[in-house]
Amino acid sequence: MSLSEFQLIDTIRNFQPNFSDDIEGIGDDAAIIPVGQQSFVITTDSLVENIHFKMEWASPFQIGRKSAAVNLSDIAAMGAQPFGLFLSISVPKTVDYCWIEQFILGIKTFGVPILGGDTTSSKDSLFINITAIGKVDNNSIKRRSTAKSGDDIYVTGTLGDSGAGLYILQNNLDPVGFQSLVEAHLNPSPQLKIGTELAELREVHSMMDISDGLAGDIHHILDQSGLSATIDCDKLPISESLRTFCNKYDLDPIRFALEAGEDYQLLFSAEKKKCLPLPCVKVGELYTGPGQVKFLNSPSPDYKYTGYTHF
Ligand code: ADP
Ligand code: MG
Repeated sequence: MSLSEFQLIDTIRNFQPNFSDDIEGIGDDAAIIPVGQQSFVITTDSLVENIHFKMEWASPFQIGRKSAAVNLSDIAAMGAQPFGLFLSISVPKTVDYCWIEQFILGIKTFGVPILGGDTTSSKDSLFINITAIGKVDNNSIKRRSTAKSGDDIYVTGTLGDSGAGLYILQNNLDPVGFQSLVEAHLNPSPQLKIGTELAELREVHSMMDISDGLAGDIHHILDQSGLSATIDCDKLPISESLRTFCNKYDLDPIRFALEAGEDYQLLFSAEKKKCLPLPCVKVGELYTGPGQVKFLNSPSPDYKYTGYTHF
């Protein structure tokens, strides 16, 4: 039997020795290491050529930018400010100096210093790993495990654009008119500003970033907070471009919004009916229950989604 991604992570977690109670390890978007009144939050993400990116689709600058963005998105998800990056690359012979230079410029777009890393050769594909470190006041940290029954569920921006951009690239469709969708896939932006603004709001109880699609990722908050949810598909923020694209190719925009990954918007829960001073969209509610999601106005009456897994 092959292991699922989450079984594998659980196996690693079960082999952990007990360590200091203050430190929070596996389970959230980043590990939390308190130092006085503040904490460092630390996360790592790998990008493998032909799995996470293709050289034909993206420039070296875009690949560098996205490698940093996906890591900084986890820093944003904790409500933290970026502090530094570590970059490890395994480089095949086909990659030259100019490529690396553009790649590094892409990483540097966010203005976060590279504090170290590692470099090796690789037989054929390019392998990138970035570790991002952030800093946050202890009482501003937003976790997945602290959502409350009765909270409203929000997202910070449109969903499904990146998935449609990937669909265009994979199926070699004409991108004219749908450049914003391709852009969303190749150049995602970590929600760092709104992440720190949400961190300051006490009524925001839990937060994570959406990397694998709302319908799957919501389960991390539900499982860790011991709650169930309703998601109203009519409330999902869907861009005009995604609607037009789906009309043209007879696709369902709601499925893109629920199931496609790599939007890197933030998903959070906040005290019911609070008027948030930020541009966020309410998509559902949390209630006491066994970790289930009810989809209102869903694509089909018995719609169920178990989530994206990397294997
Ligand atoms: P994200 O999508 O936010 O990057 P993941 O779903 O990749 O988070 O990981 C969930 C949690 O599992 C995180 O806390 C991460 O640090 C941990 N994790 C993932 N893979 C491993 C691994 N190979 N070893 C230890 N911890 C892991
Ligand atoms: Mg994450």
